[in-house]
Amino acid sequence: MRRPLVAGNWKMNGLRASINALMDGVITGSSGLGSTDIAVCPPFVYLAQVHSQLATSQVALGAQNVSHESPGAFTGEISADMLKDQGCAYVVVGHSERRSLYGESDDLVARKYAVVQKAGMIPILCVGELLEERESNQTEAVVARQLDAVVNMCGIASFAHAVIAYEPVWAIGTGRTATPQQAQDVHAFIRTRLRDLDAKIADGVRILYGGSVKASNAAEIFAKPDVDGGLIGGASLKAEEFLAICKAAAA
Ligand code: PEP
Repeated sequence: MRRPLVAGNWKMNGLRASINALMDGVITGSSGLGSTDIAVCPPFVYLAQVHSQLATSQVALGAQNVSHESPGAFTGEISADMLKDQGCAYVVVGHSERRSLYGESDDLVARKYAVVQKAGMIPILCVGELLEERESNQTEAVVARQLDAVVNMCGIASFAHAVIAYEPVWAIGTGRTATPQQAQDVHAFIRTRLRDLDAKIADGVRILYGGSVKASNAAEIFAKPDVDGGLIGGASLKAEEFLAICKAAAA
């Protein structure tokens, strides 16, 4: 039985005061949600603030990105050890905004995944196809390519300490959600591909869905057998909405 995980990706949003208020709401409302793992991924500069607010709460801290380099002369970059030192348990790697806006390749994403694990944290590996790729029936080929880059560099065993997020790019921030069956089909494809390499690891790995998940559509998506929770963007910026999504994962 896989324990659901709901992770909020705040992207480049929030300031000290609004983050304080958001976290107050999330912490208070999450206290009765013991059967779901919950994480929040603030911008780097607010990690310490959020970490101190989390204190004894069950909500975990995550980061949205990491450098693949070891500490040294890399101006403006943040290393995996620094994120671990700030209390992060998770790090998102390969988000489609990083892949498309900052040109992150499959190889670079795999290197980031590797450094996150080496530092003792759990990578949330995002994969997903563009709209034109779905429309030309390339969804499985794209997701397989993105996944294989990590399997080839880090090995199937590494997925015992990783989370996968299937995020169709056409559904991110667009209000257009994949149908529960579209999500299930790709999640099952991912799990089957991993099962061919190691059945135990494939059955244990959590595969989150991301792309315009809201309180109103979360339950039917999370009800699918291979959907183990969600990676939530816009809806994670409102405590009440985010908590309702966490509740849907617990049901
Ligand atoms: C995301 O950025 O990972 C995401 C899923 O965004 P949204 O929920 O806003 O579509």
